[in-house]
Amino acid sequence: MLVDRLDQYFQREERDRPRDYFYVSEVGKCPRQIYYAARGFPRPPLDGLTARKLAVGDDAHRRLVQALYGMGIVVAAEVPIPPGNLFHGRCDVIVSLDGKNYVVEIKTAHPYSFDQMASGPRRDHYLQLQLYLHYFGIPQGIVLAENKATQELREFVVPYDKPEVARVLEQFERLRELVFVRGELPPLPGPEEKRDWEFDQCRYCPYAAFCRENVARLPGLPEAPPASEDEQPVWRETLFDVD
Ligand code: SF4
Repeated sequence: MLVDRLDQYFQREERDRPRDYFYVSEVGKCPRQIYYAARGFPRPPLDGLTARKLAVGDDAHRRLVQALYGMGIVVAAEVPIPPGNLFHGRCDVIVSLDGKNYVVEIKTAHPYSFDQMASGPRRDHYLQLQLYLHYFGIPQGIVLAENKATQELREFVVPYDKPEVARVLEQFERLRELVFVRGELPPLPGPEEKRDWEFDQCRYCPYAAFCRENVARLPGLPEAPPASEDEQPVWRETLFDVD
């Protein structure tokens, strides 16, 4: 009676608009997936179940940020990276504790993924937080994770990691040259790149059909992407993925 209707209600088309910059949430993603998303290649609609899972993550973000506001420690929320940078993105919230500011990156995690974070944050979350620390000039931050099933919380306080930020910026500078200047499809990731992956991205990739055929151009898509602001791609959630 209702389940099919609700699935249909939540299902939605996803269309990335072509752009000429990266999102912070793309750190740790397959470079080919980034190419296809940044060039506006079409992908399958988001199914109702995945859309609802993403909504649960959004609700948790709101609930936690509201609580931080209630505690009177929020300095700012949803702060955008200054324009003109290689990356675009908005940090979740900045709080002040004992006279120090901290950028807080909120993540909700599937129980399996949450258990994997027993001793440290997920690598891509760590790097995302590092980029915010870099762009905001704040020397410390917190990855705050909530277990989606139990609402258990875990936090990881980390200092600014200059060498890692330099490595990520250099890596994405090379990708910018390849994708946005030369307009070339990045090569297939090898074992070296995949070693950093938290899960098999190919298994859940919405662009796998294009990738298999090495498709680099689609008729009707612009060659030079016009910039568009603040519309982050929604990456497909997986068993191991968290938002
Ligand atoms: S199928 Fe794998 S290698 Fe190809 S774009 Fe997707 S994640 Fe990348």
